[in-house]
Amino acid sequence: MKFDIITIFPNIFDSYFNHGLIARGLKKKLIQIKTHNLRKWTIDKHKSVDDRPFGGGLGMVMKIEPIFEAVKAIKKNNSKVIFFTPRGKKFNQKIAWQLSKQKQLIFICGRYEGVDERVAEKIADLKLSIGDYVLMGGEVPTLVVIEAVSRLIPGIIAKEQLLQERTTKKKGYVEYPQYTRPEVFNPKKGVNWKVPKELISGNHERIRKWREKKSQTIEK
Ligand code: SAM
Repeated sequence: MKFDIITIFPNIFDSYFNHGLIARGLKKKLIQIKTHNLRKWTIDKHKSVDDRPFGGGLGMVMKIEPIFEAVKAIKKNNSKVIFFTPRGKKFNQKIAWQLSKQKQLIFICGRYEGVDERVAEKIADLKLSIGDYVLMGGEVPTLVVIEAVSRLIPGIIAKEQLLQERTTKKKGYVEYPQYTRPEVFNPKKGVNWKVPKELISGNHERIRKWREKKSQTIEK
């Protein structure tokens, strides 16, 4: 699986990808991530990626030309181009499963007041939102999608059984509450916050039933 990120802030990602399971996946060559500076595909001497909006208004809009050229240079067969916009389809676990089957995902990170709508209409295969709020750019949404998709790629999570255990037939993801030591936490005198007795019963069937009862699917 290869992730290509088109952004005007490629350095934002450096530190993030050096940690945790993403770093491990990169080291084991289970995933590849490449950030591309959009300015590489500009043609004017100022390397401009934005311009004033037609119809007037405050702020600047990202231009289609460098994005078009960037996607043309990066895209292979069978890849999906993902464009982030708060007006896109809401990202969820089901979409993460679908994306985890792809060979290449290309992310276009918007900035400023937005991106020429022809990018969404003509270049993107999928328009995604990560929630009903407006961020300053598509970089954080890119991280969100890469995290969610990467952990579904075989070998990324060391204990893959975990993933199987918590996945329903419809590829939804089932979550139950977790606890760890101490069994009883006493933050102050007379207060005892206890772990549910089922979990410390040592009875596997009782634990399984408790987890089943408490499970919530996060698939919508
Ligand atoms: N008015 C623009 C629009 O409706 O698309 C929003 C511009 S926003 C300030 C700048 C960029 O941040 C967007 O082009 C998009 O790439 C990204 N962005 C902001 N909120 C987002 C969200 N909830 N989900 C995904 N991307 C988002």
